Amino acid sequence: YTAGMGTDCLFCRIVAGEIPATMVRETPTTLAFRDINPKAPVHVLVIPKEHYADVATLAQGDPALAGEVLATAAAVAEDEGLLGDGFRLMFNTGTYGGQEVFHAHAHLLGGAPLGPMLA
Ligand code: 5GP
Ligand code: ZN
Repeated sequence: YTAGMGTDCLFCRIVAGEIPATMVRETPTTLAFRDINPKAPVHVLVIPKEHYADVATLAQGDPALAGEVLATAAAVAEDEGLLGDGFRLMFNTGTYGGQEVFHAHAHLLGGAPLGPMLA
């Protein structure tokens, strides 16, 4: 994690192994683990190990790393058997986006029909 973020940021602490999480995939630069409060039969969070506050900061600061997050999400979708029926990949961003944890993360949701995007 970025120096100085480890104590402040929940997901940096998961990267550091200071908080347990149910891991589903790890690459040198990314991590995927199950959401603690799943909103679908499959609900996995995919993050860059390096701290970026949100997906906009990530994509503008390190587009290759943003691509690695997408590739990890696709690999998890395949492992979880979601490629046939489909899935949703979502980045809540900022206040209006409903973001609660300010370490960029993709929500990978699937395993059942998800309905309209906005409820
Ligand atoms: P956001 O609203 O920021 O897009 O989503 C944050 C997500 O992180 C939520 O879906 C929430 O359930 C999940 N979350 C919050 N704390 C923890 C935790 O300690 N462990 C895990 N695995 N997920 C968490
Ligand atoms: Zn962080």
